[in-house]
Amino acid sequence: MKIITKMINWSRLKSPWVLHFNTGACNACDIEIIASLTPRYDLERFGVLLKGTPRHADVLLCSGPVTKQIECRLLRIYEQMPEPKFVVAIGTCACTGGVFNGCYNVQGGINTVLPVSAYIPGCPASPKAIIDGVAKLLQSLEEGDKK
Ligand code: SF4
Repeated sequence: MKIITKMINWSRLKSPWVLHFNTGACNACDIEIIASLTPRYDLERFGVLLKGTPRHADVLLCSGPVTKQIECRLLRIYEQMPEPKFVVAIGTCACTGGVFNGCYNVQGGINTVLPVSAYIPGCPASPKAIIDGVAKLLQSLEEGDKK
Protein backbone atom coordinates (compact mmCIF):
# COMPACT_ATOMS: atom_id res chain seq x y z
CA MET A 1 0.00 0.00 0.00
CA LYS A 2 2.85 2.35 0.89
CA ILE A 3 4.47 1.72 -2.51
CA ILE A 4 1.20 2.58 -4.29
CA THR A 5 0.94 5.87 -2.35
CA LYS A 6 4.58 6.64 -3.21
CA MET A 7 3.93 5.92 -6.89
CA ILE A 8 0.83 8.15 -6.93
CA ASN A 9 2.80 11.00 -5.28
CA TRP A 10 5.72 10.50 -7.68
CA SER A 11 3.46 10.61 -10.75
CA ARG A 12 1.62 13.65 -9.39
CA LEU A 13 4.88 15.54 -8.90
CA LYS A 14 6.19 14.52 -12.32
CA SER A 15 3.03 15.66 -14.06
CA PRO A 16 0.97 18.15 -12.02
CA TRP A 17 -2.30 19.09 -13.68
CA VAL A 18 -3.22 22.72 -13.22
CA LEU A 19 -6.38 24.79 -13.40
CA HIS A 20 -6.20 28.50 -14.09
CA PHE A 21 -8.77 30.76 -12.47
CA ASN A 22 -9.08 34.54 -12.70
CA THR A 23 -10.40 35.77 -9.35
CA GLY A 24 -10.55 39.40 -10.44
CA ALA A 25 -7.37 40.13 -12.41
CA CYS A 26 -7.07 42.92 -14.98
CA ASN A 27 -6.18 40.12 -17.49
CA ALA A 28 -2.48 40.90 -17.88
CA CYS A 29 -1.48 38.15 -15.42
CA ASP A 30 -3.76 35.72 -17.31
CA ILE A 31 -1.99 36.48 -20.58
CA GLU A 32 1.37 35.79 -18.90
CA ILE A 33 0.07 32.48 -17.51
CA ILE A 34 -1.09 31.46 -20.99
CA ALA A 35 2.29 32.58 -22.42
CA SER A 36 4.11 30.37 -19.90
CA LEU A 37 2.01 27.37 -20.99
CA THR A 38 2.47 27.87 -24.74
CA PRO A 39 5.53 26.67 -26.74
CA ARG A 40 7.76 29.73 -26.29
CA TYR A 41 8.16 29.26 -22.50
CA ASP A 42 6.79 25.71 -22.41
CA LEU A 43 5.81 24.97 -18.81
CA GLU A 44 4.79 21.57 -20.13
CA ARG A 45 8.44 20.48 -20.12
CA PHE A 46 8.02 20.10 -16.34
CA GLY A 47 5.00 17.87 -16.98
CA VAL A 48 2.55 20.68 -16.18
CA LEU A 49 -0.72 20.18 -18.03
CA LEU A 50 -3.60 22.66 -18.19
CA LYS A 51 -6.98 21.10 -17.39
CA GLY A 52 -10.49 22.44 -17.84
CA THR A 53 -12.04 21.06 -14.66
CA PRO A 54 -11.16 21.30 -10.95
CA ARG A 55 -11.93 17.59 -10.55
CA HIS A 56 -8.79 16.74 -12.58
CA ALA A 57 -6.49 19.42 -11.17
CA ASP A 58 -3.76 19.18 -8.52
CA VAL A 59 -2.75 22.85 -8.58
CA LEU A 60 -4.98 25.93 -8.75
CA LEU A 61 -3.27 28.89 -10.43
CA CYS A 62 -5.02 32.07 -9.30
CA SER A 63 -4.57 35.51 -10.81
CA GLY A 64 -5.94 38.77 -9.42
CA PRO A 65 -7.38 39.84 -6.09
CA VAL A 66 -10.40 37.98 -4.73
CA THR A 67 -13.47 40.06 -5.44
CA LYS A 68 -16.45 39.65 -3.13
CA GLN A 69 -18.47 38.44 -6.13
CA ILE A 70 -16.02 35.64 -6.98
CA GLU A 71 -15.22 34.45 -3.44
CA CYS A 72 -17.91 31.74 -3.22
CA ARG A 73 -17.05 30.47 -6.73
CA LEU A 74 -13.37 30.25 -5.81
CA LEU A 75 -14.25 28.23 -2.71
CA ARG A 76 -16.51 25.93 -4.73
CA ILE A 77 -13.77 25.28 -7.29
CA TYR A 78 -11.24 24.57 -4.53
CA GLU A 79 -13.61 22.15 -2.80
CA GLN A 80 -14.07 20.21 -6.06
CA MET A 81 -10.33 19.54 -6.40
CA PRO A 82 -9.08 16.17 -5.12
CA GLU A 83 -6.56 15.99 -2.23
CA PRO A 84 -3.70 16.76 -2.04
CA LYS A 85 -4.24 20.14 -3.69
CA PHE A 86 -2.14 23.26 -3.92
CA VAL A 87 -2.83 26.91 -4.65
CA VAL A 88 -0.41 29.28 -6.39
CA ALA A 89 -1.02 33.05 -6.22
CA ILE A 90 0.25 34.64 -9.44
CA GLY A 91 0.84 38.38 -9.57
CA THR A 92 0.94 41.06 -6.90
CA CYS A 93 -2.86 41.28 -6.76
CA ALA A 94 -3.19 37.56 -6.04
CA CYS A 95 -0.41 37.78 -3.43
CA THR A 96 -1.70 40.80 -1.51
CA GLY A 97 -4.65 42.40 -3.29
CA GLY A 98 -2.19 44.80 -4.98
CA VAL A 99 -3.57 48.00 -6.44
CA PHE A 100 -7.12 46.79 -5.76
CA ASN A 101 -6.54 46.29 -2.04
CA GLY A 102 -9.06 48.28 0.00
CA CYS A 103 -11.58 48.60 -2.84
CA TYR A 104 -15.19 48.23 -1.69
CA ASN A 105 -15.67 45.07 -3.77
CA VAL A 106 -12.33 43.36 -3.03
CA GLN A 107 -11.74 40.80 -0.30
CA GLY A 108 -7.91 40.86 -0.60
CA GLY A 109 -5.23 38.41 -1.73
CA ILE A 110 -5.91 34.73 -2.37
CA ASN A 111 -4.68 33.87 1.14
CA THR A 112 -7.67 35.66 2.65
CA VAL A 113 -9.82 32.81 1.30
CA LEU A 114 -7.57 29.77 0.62
CA PRO A 115 -4.26 28.37 1.91
CA VAL A 116 -1.57 29.40 -0.60
CA SER A 117 1.46 27.15 -1.27
CA ALA A 118 3.44 29.54 -3.47
CA TYR A 119 3.45 33.28 -4.17
CA ILE A 120 4.70 34.66 -7.49
CA PRO A 121 4.92 38.47 -7.37
CA GLY A 122 5.06 40.88 -10.31
CA CYS A 123 2.67 43.19 -12.10
CA PRO A 124 2.17 41.26 -14.22
CA ALA A 125 4.14 38.20 -13.14
CA SER A 126 6.44 37.31 -16.05
CA PRO A 127 6.36 33.82 -17.61
CA LYS A 128 9.92 33.24 -16.32
CA ALA A 129 8.81 34.10 -12.76
CA ILE A 130 5.76 31.81 -13.14
CA ILE A 131 7.96 28.91 -14.33
CA ASP A 132 10.43 29.57 -11.51
CA GLY A 133 7.62 29.62 -8.93
CA VAL A 134 6.03 26.41 -10.19
CA ALA A 135 9.45 24.66 -10.36
CA LYS A 136 10.19 25.73 -6.76
CA LEU A 137 6.76 24.52 -5.61
CA LEU A 138 7.38 21.10 -7.23
CA GLN A 139 10.87 20.95 -5.71
CA SER A 140 9.59 21.73 -2.20
CA LEU A 141 6.82 19.15 -2.57
CA GLU A 142 9.36 16.55 -3.70
CA GLU A 143 11.61 17.33 -0.73
CA GLY A 144 8.61 17.18 1.61
CA ASP A 145 7.69 13.81 0.09
CA LYS A 146 11.16 12.38 0.83
CA LYS A 147 10.94 13.23 4.57
S1 SF4 B 1 -0.74 42.06 -10.63
FE1 SF4 B 1 -0.87 43.74 -12.16
S2 SF4 B 1 -1.18 42.67 -14.09
FE2 SF4 B 1 -1.67 41.19 -12.47
S3 SF4 B 1 -3.89 41.38 -12.15
FE3 SF4 B 1 -2.88 42.80 -10.73
S4 SF4 B 1 -2.83 44.78 -11.80
FE4 SF4 B 1 -3.23 43.20 -13.34
